[in-house]
Amino acid sequence: MSLQHHKVVLVGDGAVGSSYAFAMAQQGLAEEFVIVDVFKERTVGDAMDIEDAQAFTAPKNIYGGGYEDAGDADLVVITAGAPQKPGETRLDLVDKNLGIMKSIIEPLMASGFDGIILVAANPVDILTLAAQKLSGLPTTRVFGSGTSLDTARLRADLGKKFNVDPRSVDAYILGEHGDSEFANFDEATIGGRSIKAFAKDANISDEDLDAILYATAHKAYEIIDRKGATFYGVATALMRISKAILKNENAVLPVGAYMDGQYGLNDIYIGTPAIINNQGVASVIETPLSDSEATKMAASAKALKDIADEAFA
Ligand code: NAD
Repeated sequence: MSLQHHKVVLVGDGAVGSSYAFAMAQQGLAEEFVIVDVFKERTVGDAMDIEDAQAFTAPKNIYGGGYEDAGDADLVVITAGAPQKPGETRLDLVDKNLGIMKSIIEPLMASGFDGIILVAANPVDILTLAAQKLSGLPTTRVFGSGTSLDTARLRADLGKKFNVDPRSVDAYILGEHGDSEFANFDEATIGGRSIKAFAKDANISDEDLDAILYATAHKAYEIIDRKGATFYGVATALMRISKAILKNENAVLPVGAYMDGQYGLNDIYIGTPAIINNQGVASVIETPLSDSEATKMAASAKALKDIADEAFA
């Protein structure tokens, strides 16, 4: 990766993708930014629109393009996916989105691409595994947004509860990005002091903490009910991960990382903290878990493994 010139390709210029492109432009990240979508005219329109914002931020080269532009890209971010239709099962959606992932990875790899792939399309943990297997790239260079958005939501809620900047809350949502995710309340801290101690001081019970987790895990539905989709939160999480990659930060961020023995798990992607730099996942941080949290991690991994086994059968 050249220090002077970073090239990012976005695949999927919908609500999430276009918000991500805008967030990247606002931060002045990526000297060259290519937008790819089956809806080609929209990519050109979005590039033109974001170009207009750059007189106020920093000049970058942003354009609608194709996979042929990806050969020398540092990072490809995939937000292309079909939404779940009424009556469709989760596995139907998996099948459909696996087909979309195949139609992306084949031309991407044919371009000679040899960078990092970051996946956000859902079901993200399964689609990340598919992207890795289809691309043949090292597992460290293909990873997912995992529980990054969920963790952001949890930190914001805990920050509000304890009147602390959410960036100072060291708590994680771990596991699947989905129904079996859980919070590491037994291990979470603020300023090195346990969240449970803060909760006790504030008369917040374990049930109240569970209610915060429930609200975090169900916030997407609350937003979707009101505006049809969620995109600013995840787009900002993707921007933050991209920044850690492009600026070689070694930042500790929650992502969907490949399990190679960590937490006793293998051959799945799952939400965990990891060190992110310009090599992708430099290392997975196997964060300490209490016994009950370890049980939740195992159950979440099993839920993912069952879907993966069926999807890849
Ligand atoms: P959207 O429908 O607005 O956008 C999807 C885009 O993908 C569309 O522009 C569509 O034209 C494009 N697309 C479809 N098939 C394609 C293909 N084969 N090649 C290229 N582009 C293709 O949807 P959205 O709201 O932007 O959501 C996108 C994905 O992100 C969904 O899977 C959604 O579930 C997921 N999402 C993930 C998180 C997270 O935390 N990981 C959060 C929110 C949404």
